[in-house]
Amino acid sequence: MNVPESHPRYESLLRRDRLIEGFRNGIVAEAGLIAHGRGEALDYLIGEKTNDFAEEAERVSAFQLLNASNPIISVNGNVAALCPKSLIELASTTGAALEVNLFYRTEERIAKIVEHLENFGAQNVLGAEPDAQIPGLEHARALCTESGIFSADVILVPLEDGDRAQALRDMGKTTIVIDLNPLSRSSKVASVSIVDEVTRAIPNVTKFAEEIKASGEGLSKTMADFDNERNLAMALEAIRKGF
Ligand code: ATP
Ligand code: MG
Repeated sequence: MNVPESHPRYESLLRRDRLIEGFRNGIVAEAGLIAHGRGEALDYLIGEKTNDFAEEAERVSAFQLLNASNPIISVNGNVAALCPKSLIELASTTGAALEVNLFYRTEERIAKIVEHLENFGAQNVLGAEPDAQIPGLEHARALCTESGIFSADVILVPLEDGDRAQALRDMGKTTIVIDLNPLSRSSKVASVSIVDEVTRAIPNVTKFAEEIKASGEGLSKTMADFDNERNLAMALEAIRKGF
């Protein structure tokens, strides 16, 4: 990409570049490009930065992942294209497994995403051989792995579709959604909603997980006090008021 790092839109242009490359390589779906555009607009409105409400949700998410017995990070094409290294770092810091799970599922795209993650050093990526189904969803959207998403107690679903976020919640799981839209169904049904751009959010969760591990903190006050509805209301207020 020929954009200098000093360009004011450097980060944003870099993300677009990664998505376009991912699209050309068969990792990102057509609709993934459109979904990213919606995210970009909302990111403008929150100042293209991690706000306090997002930081709080990110810290709580780190606690949840560290305290889970079977934490899973669900990976779709956009996230794989945008921040493969950060996903792998988060997985290794929290002991979570990565599972590729697509809204527009094709076996070919799944294989390409698994390979893409492996090229960045990921191991044991789940998702290519589904052997279970999420109840309440039609077949293609329901497919997942028994040892991964199906049995996960805590699941991080960046940029998840609303129906599936709801179905995962109905299974009794703690769900962590990353979505710049505080009004999306996914954000509303999540246990923890992170209203932040995914390439900022994921490294932040890793950073908090490292801090928590280093300090030996247990379940902190932060977690007990966390109120997702209140947190979403703060995100919406930030969007309405402007930064
Ligand atoms: P829902 O169906 O849950 O009500 P939606 O229809 O608005 O939500 P989709 O178009 O299905 O959502 O998915 C895109 C969502 O992901 C948008 O809400 C958008 O804000 C968010 N999004 C897209 N790219 C990013 C990104 N890079 N970081 C964070 N969120 C993103
Ligand atoms: Mg949706």
